[in-house]
Amino acid sequence: MSINGGEGKAEGIYSGSELKIREQESEIVFLREILEKYKEELEYYKAQVEKLMAPPLIEATLLEILPDGRALVKSSSGPMLVVQILETIDRNLLKPGASVALNQRGSAIVEVLPRFEDPYVKAFEVIERPNISYSDIGGLDEQIIELRETVELPLKNPHIFRIMGIEPPKGVLLYGPPGCGKTLLAKAVAHEVNATFIRIVASELAQKFIGEGARIVKEIFSLARRKAPSIILIDEIDAIASKRLDVGTSGEREIHRTLTQLLAEIDGFDPLDNVKVLATTNRIDVLDPAILRPGRFDRIIEIPLPNLRGRYEIFKIHTRKMPLSNDVDLIELSKLTEGATGADIKTICIEAALKAIRIGRELVYKEDFVEAIKKVMRNRYRPYAFYNMNNRDSTEANRYHL
Ligand code: ATP
Repeated sequence: MSINGGEGKAEGIYSGSELKIREQESEIVFLREILEKYKEELEYYKAQVEKLMAPPLIEATLLEILPDGRALVKSSSGPMLVVQILETIDRNLLKPGASVALNQRGSAIVEVLPRFEDPYVKAFEVIERPNISYSDIGGLDEQIIELRETVELPLKNPHIFRIMGIEPPKGVLLYGPPGCGKTLLAKAVAHEVNATFIRIVASELAQKFIGEGARIVKEIFSLARRKAPSIILIDEIDAIASKRLDVGTSGEREIHRTLTQLLAEIDGFDPLDNVKVLATTNRIDVLDPAILRPGRFDRIIEIPLPNLRGRYEIFKIHTRKMPLSNDVDLIELSKLTEGATGADIKTICIEAALKAIRIGRELVYKEDFVEAIKKVMRNRYRPYAFYNMNNRDSTEANRYHL
């Protein structure tokens, strides 16, 4: 092995013993590095063992700071305690209601815990203010007007309803085929009134959180009240509110408990509270009439498959920022997509643009759209096509002279 001395000495100038010394020196450097690494690892494992051996802290809720600087807390195990506060704790965080950790003897606050929601609630979609506006929704003008009257107006101007002595609907049911803009509508209303948007999927309550449904419903409503104004959207409500439910098995009893809790929550709040509940379903025919009673989901709005004009508007929305070639005629594309949902049209626009990118073009051509339409519409199973039966395109075409 040859070693370069690094001080201007050429290779091969060391005598045999010098070479040995050099080799041993570099061996020592190498061993020191390894030793450092092992020391670091040892520290890490020591810290881990310490964590494992540490006794658990006690969670408590701060009730009050006493004049002498101590704190009155209610520990999660039950009793109220007067405890000391560790000097290092930021006093600004110590607000009544804050979650704190006490040392294992329960004699002092040693940490302020972050405010935590129920982990199940976290699993659902909570958006402070969705960034969807009415201009992002195509072909649903009448439905938007109705939602503005029933949800937006009472949230923005509850006093008008008080003056008139009338009660706005507590809940609104949106029904129609999937992918036609129900969620979009609910988000747009939340955006308009600056509300928190909370979305839960009822079928998940029934399948994923077995035994927890009723508790989660309760927690979601209390979260909505804390974050008010808020809009709760219950997707696929038929999963917990089907009239065909025969309360025989334990699973069905559990679903029934979830529904009962939901109805109790809705019955329990004032129509002029700043929490509104929207629900969606694709199967209005199977819904239990109990949820449609006055004071519950007593406003029902149909969100149908888009007609010719609707499809045209949805195409306009999803090609707003797209560089289109002159040969792209959105009316023509709308005619080619009878039976498509809003979600289909969005997919078609994305597919067309992707094809243009693949070819290396910076403009999207008509042929890209035609191919995308074929791809998306081909072999689609459309169980909801009947929703459009009263909305035939031929009459629409006459109306818009297409
Ligand atoms: P589901 O019943 O499956 O929840 P949905 O009716 O709630 O369906 P959305 O989630 O609102 O459907 O729509 C899916 C996507 O399709 C939206 O993100 C949007 O991009 C597009 N889309 C659907 N309907 C419209 C519409 N009317 N205008 C513009 N885009 C739409």
